[in-house]
Formats: sequence, C-alpha cells, structure tokens
Amino acid sequence: ASYGLPTLEKESNSRENNVAKIKVVVRKRPLNKKELARKEEDVVSVCANGLTVHEPKLKVDLTAYVEKHEFCFDAVLDQQVTNDEVYRETVQPIIPIIFQRTKATCFAYGQTGSGKTYTMQPLPLRAAEDLVRLLHQPTYREQKFKLWLSYFEIYGGKLYDLLSDRKKLCMREDGRQQVCIVGLQEFEVLDVQIVKEYIERGSNARSTGSTGANEESSRSHAILQLVVKKHNQVKDPRRNNDPNESKAGKVVGKISFIDLAGSERGADTTDNDRQTRIEGAEINKSLLALKECIRALDNDQLHIPFRGSKLTEVLRDSFVGNSRTVMISCISPNAGSCEHTLNTLRYADRVK
Ligand code: ADP
Ligand code: MG
Repeated sequence: ASYGLPTLEKESNSRENNVAKIKVVVRKRPLNKKELARKEEDVVSVCANGLTVHEPKLKVDLTAYVEKHEFCFDAVLDQQVTNDEVYRETVQPIIPIIFQRTKATCFAYGQTGSGKTYTMQPLPLRAAEDLVRLLHQPTYREQKFKLWLSYFEIYGGKLYDLLSDRKKLCMREDGRQQVCIVGLQEFEVLDVQIVKEYIERGSNARSTGSTGANEESSRSHAILQLVVKKHNQVKDPRRNNDPNESKAGKVVGKISFIDLAGSERGADTTDNDRQTRIEGAEINKSLLALKECIRALDNDQLHIPFRGSKLTEVLRDSFVGNSRTVMISCISPNAGSCEHTLNTLRYADRVK
C-alpha cells in the first residue's frame, strides 16, 4: 500500500527538519441533509491550494459580502477528501520526528458544525497506529520507548480529566519549561484498539450541560495527547513528582490533538446569561492567545506569549524548542455560514 510509514531512511532525513514548522490547511465539508433540503447555496469553491468564498445570491443584506474573497493556504482539502487523506496530509509527516524530541500540536479550528470533531477524532488513532509500529522497529525496540495517552478538556478556563470521571485538574510548571498537569491519568498504549475505546470514552465525557451535548461541547477545548517516553531508568520514588519522570519514564516527544471550542462562541460576550458571557470571554481570550503564540513561533520570536490563556499555558512546552504545529481550519460551505467561514479563513490566514 502506498499509505506507508516513512522508512527509516526518510526518517533520518527529517532530522534535518524538513517537516514544515507550521502548516495551515483548510477543510471544507459537504452540504449536509438539512442544508440540501433548504436548497442552500454552496458558496465555497476550492482550486489547488486556494479557495474562494462567493457572494451568496439569495442573501437579502449583501453589504458584508460585496467582494469576492480569495485565500491561499498550505493545502485546501475539498469536501470529498477522506479522513485518511487528511491524516496523510497533516499529521503523518510529523510522526517519525516525535522520536527525535519533537513536540507537536494539531488543532481543529472553526465554527460549531463545521467538522472539527469529525476531523479530529480519527487522527489520534491513525497516529497511535504509526507510533506503535515505529516503537516495534529494531532501532527503537532497543531503546525501551513506550507510548502513553491522556485526554482532558479545558472548560471555562478549568481543566477536567476526560478519562477519569471529569476529575478537576490543576497545572503546574517546573523550572525547566515543562508543564505538569497534576493528577492527569495516563494510560499506556499497548495496542491500538484500546485507543479507539479511550477516544470514545473521553468524547462521551465531554461537557454536557442542561442544554445538550453538542451545545456544551462547543464551549470546551478537548486535548488528547500521545506521549513517547523512554523507560530505561529505574523508578526513584523520591522523584515521583517530576513530570519528566512520571510513570518512570522520560518524555521524548509528544503530539497533542486539540478539538477547539466553536470559534463563534468567542463572540458570546454580550449574551444575557452571565455564565455564557464568562465562557465566551474565556474562549475569545484563548483563541486570540493561540493565534499570537503561533505567530510568535512562526517569526522565531524568543518570547512566546503563552500566558495569555489556560489553553496556551497548557501547551507551553509545545511552543518552545523543536515544535511542529498543524492548524486544520474547518469550514461549512453553506451561504448561511458565509460570515463565520470568512472569519475562520481570516484567522487561518493570520496564523500562516
Ligand atoms: P464540529 O465539531 O465542528 O461542531 P462536527 O464534526 O460535529 O462539527 O460536524 C457536524 C456534522 O457534519 C456531523 O454530523 C458530521 O458527521 C458532519 N461532517 C463534518 N465534516 C464532514 C465531512 N468532511 N464529510 C461528511 N460529513 C461531515
Ligand atoms: Mg465538535
């Protein structure tokens, strides 16, 4: 099959950092049944690495949409592109360099209903498959690497373990720019099937308030991490609190998959409900801080403004050193989402 893992030879090439530090791709979903039933217009057309958002013909108020809007990205994935192809385009090139001290993050950004969860959920499974396969290759087998998984969410600026009854967590930093989430459960990935179960379990545990599952989960950032650790030391109980030594291993590299809160939620700051306003403000803050951090990373700035939000603080160690960032911007094609789509594309454009 051509869908192969990079060979060891290719892998050693990637030591020379030929995997882009920041990659921004856009994914368009197809019109859904409801939109088709309403005969909604598809206003997004994709060509090569670019796309155009057209003026919706049936819109009454056209003032916001008078111009054509054209954008260009590292890749634009049209509606027929499968999740496997998304994986190959975005995450797979990074996998081998996780063993070379890379900390990678893959974000799904976009309005609620644009396909973030649909895009994000299968990625850790594919990544775990490839990571486990590499672990068992002769060169790595000698090195006693192990793969660990954790899954948590940030909701209203607070952390909850999605694999441990939504236990509330807190974060602390050691003096070496390492982030430690105290009490976060980590599970060893011995086989890939179990990853599927963890993804399902964690996703079911995402915030579900009185207003229903999708409504509430759109207000939280879900973070699934796959961490490669090296296990050649004997565990020293006195150093139990050192995040690098947790589960008797030293972190080699990691990849975080982040299903961000719905981007439109950041605008909930004038809502009548106080709680909604607070959450909206927190989301707005975190998405802005994220943009600033990625831009700082792109410009090789020494100062990364990660303190701007809980989200960026948690990801601190992925914004320094040998890091890789993939932003998947999800967009809806229907005329009714035009404004949100343009906002998502502008955000992606600024990150690039
Ligand atoms: P979000 O997480 O951004 O709120 P979802 O991932 O839940 O959005 O997607 C909304 C709906 O659209 C879901 O029913 C999902 O199955 C469907 N969907 C999203 N992206 C695609 C796609 N690329 N192809 C087919 N269906 C999709
Ligand atoms: Mg979702």
